[in-house]
Amino acid sequence: MSPTLDISIVVSVYNEAEGLAHFWDELKKQLSSDPNSYEVIFVNDGSLDGSVQKLETIYQSQKPSNVSVKLIEFSKNFGHESAMIAGIDHSSHGAIICMDADLQHPVEKIQELVNAYKSGHDIVLTKRMSRADNGMMKNLLSRTFYSLLNSVSDLKFSSNSTDFFLISAQVAGILKENFRDRNRFIRGFIQQIGFNSTTVNFDAPARAFGESSYSLKQLFSLAVGAVFAYSNKPLRISILLSIVFILFTLALAVYSLYEYFNGDTPPSGYTTIIIFLSASFSALFVVIAILSMYFEKALIEQRNRPIYIVKKVLD
Ligand code: UDP
Ligand code: MG
Repeated sequence: MSPTLDISIVVSVYNEAEGLAHFWDELKKQLSSDPNSYEVIFVNDGSLDGSVQKLETIYQSQKPSNVSVKLIEFSKNFGHESAMIAGIDHSSHGAIICMDADLQHPVEKIQELVNAYKSGHDIVLTKRMSRADNGMMKNLLSRTFYSLLNSVSDLKFSSNSTDFFLISAQVAGILKENFRDRNRFIRGFIQQIGFNSTTVNFDAPARAFGESSYSLKQLFSLAVGAVFAYSNKPLRISILLSIVFILFTLALAVYSLYEYFNGDTPPSGYTTIIIFLSASFSALFVVIAILSMYFEKALIEQRNRPIYIVKKVLD
């Protein structure tokens, strides 16, 4: 018989009170039929709906012999990415699996992730083949997100990747030590970090309880953040834009001088001036906006504020 493994499962929780008990039942059922030893780390990301009480009940409840539970409570809502990082920071076992608490990441797939890890993969990513509860708008947005990200970044991110993944202790160590950016996109990090990786496919069921807490606004800011965190292409685009305008200006200057000295009547030029000025200013503002985005991101990193603040740990 192969030796058993130690695995931590990080579960981010934000306003999941309604579904937590069901999630825990399903997870327990899954893990108790598994020979490996599991530490389940629930990270309560400042829930406002009684998720804390549900988590404390789970913490005190009877657990299968191969399962232990840890509870990390944030002082306020810091976001899903921060919750995952906190879980990874607090894990004491070997490999780590991150997953959502809403059962949209099927617990049955844990076995498949662990098997891929056992067969020598340091990173096991998952790919969502379908998503039952996504409307046209969110699907379209998600596709646009990835094509935008890929077109303006130097790295290529696979679409439909999710925050359901397994990383070895070594990769977790790298995330803990070296990937402490305030502007994080862990799913992106682990796709670019190298190592031996593989992908497992799954179908995401609709949320059984509650509702998705990612608003369109949050998705948009995640996308913008990811672009500026992963790419200098916008900077290069702004240089290109400047070159185009220099050439445009030169051509206009040559044309105006030629007309002035050789034309029968000097050009009146009002329309040209208006169009030229508004186009130049728009381009200038775009360049300034791009620079400001990088400047803002740099300031945020430089301030070095904590990624999350822990209020309480139950271990
Ligand atoms: N979540 C979190 N902090 C947040 C928002 C969400 O920890 O600020 C958790 C949430 O409880 C869930 C996971 O992150 O376990 C994914 O969130 P959600 O289901 O709302 O996102 P979606 O599945 O729609 O992408
Ligand atoms: Mg979800």
